[in-house]
Amino acid sequence: MLDTATASEAIAGSMHRLEAEPVELDEAVGRILRQSVNAERDQPPFDRVTMDGIAVRFDTINAGHRNFTIEGTQHAGDPVQSLTSDTGCIEIMTGGVLPTGTDCIIPVERISVSNGVATVASEYEAKRNQFVHPQGSDHVRGHEVLKPGARISPMDIAVIASCGLANVEVSRQPSIRVISTGNELVPPGSPIESHQIRLSNGPALVAMLADQGFVDTAHEHLIDEPTILEIRIANLLQESDVLILSGGVSMGKADYVPQVLEKLGVKLVFHKISQRPGKPMWFGIGPDKQVVFALPGNPVSTLVCCRQYVLPALLMASGRESYSPETARLTEDVTFEADLTCFLPVRISVSDDGLINATPAPTNTSGDFAALSGTHGYVELARAQSEFSAGSAVPLHRWDSP
Ligand code: AMP
Ligand code: MG
Repeated sequence: MLDTATASEAIAGSMHRLEAEPVELDEAVGRILRQSVNAERDQPPFDRVTMDGIAVRFDTINAGHRNFTIEGTQHAGDPVQSLTSDTGCIEIMTGGVLPTGTDCIIPVERISVSNGVATVASEYEAKRNQFVHPQGSDHVRGHEVLKPGARISPMDIAVIASCGLANVEVSRQPSIRVISTGNELVPPGSPIESHQIRLSNGPALVAMLADQGFVDTAHEHLIDEPTILEIRIANLLQESDVLILSGGVSMGKADYVPQVLEKLGVKLVFHKISQRPGKPMWFGIGPDKQVVFALPGNPVSTLVCCRQYVLPALLMASGRESYSPETARLTEDVTFEADLTCFLPVRISVSDDGLINATPAPTNTSGDFAALSGTHGYVELARAQSEFSAGSAVPLHRWDSP
């Protein structure tokens, strides 16, 4: 049976990089950037005034002079004006260019104006260059402000816009089809019998994908019937880059998924990983290089396997370079006897010394997905060990940062 690292490597080795495509800026949030973004100009592009007020010469006000003749008014967006006299000033608004010949802004709250003269409050003490955001002090022209592989955040949209780009190259959305298998499953909104189970994996998988920006998704529920599985999976394979199934991959009499996939020409890469939860996971490559993740149906297993294997693979195919887990410190002793890697759900908090504390939130079997609500992720407890003492440093995988 494969260990967890070998399974991740096998998946990474089977993924192909998706093509890049241009999108308009208002479509770009959440997408994976596939180009460098370089500063169009120095930022700020000029000495930018940060207060409404008057622009004066510091040496004049520093020498005790308080009355300044207003020579002009300059708004944000106006071409720069020049001060001609030592005892003059220019009315200036936030966002305007620092007038030539001035080096000090007095805020409007500290002056009074009458008959074309601005008088600065007598007790006011000014500093040279105050309320000026100097040209190029954030970054200079040409600086790489965003690197390829980053997921575009709303803040990044501001940065891209500031570089003058109306379009940006991002990774193509993979077409992802999600299948929930199981005769017992009834979707939310439909009446349910006492012997049936609510279908929850499909919606959760689609949500996990959407949360990472993968929105070309569709979900379908199939019963455990080989002919139906074969017909529908064949169809869905044709329209997908990635197929994610849940359920039907274990040793039960109705677990037909592996045999149906192989019959449809999906080549097995591995079946089973030495981990809990999620041991029965199946992974293969379709006839047109589709990647097929068949996840065990137990809800905790499905969610952990999606977070641990599916999401990192999709991000890598979309152009991300690398992933490394964070490190957290266990707050309690943990014993895990099985000769398997343990993915243990945790709640995290930041301690006074700045380290991340992870408090186990064990589930009551891999069916107890309600216990996952409120957890932040899970820690990875090495297979070679069975006792983990409080204070041990362990890898942490957050649900929302795959
Ligand atoms: P399976 O992997 O098909 O043997 O399913 C294992 C367990 O997970 C069974 O108790 C199923 O009822 C449950 N299960 C499978 N698929 C889902 C699903 N989509 N939503 C909720 N529970 C599921
Ligand atoms: Mg099943």
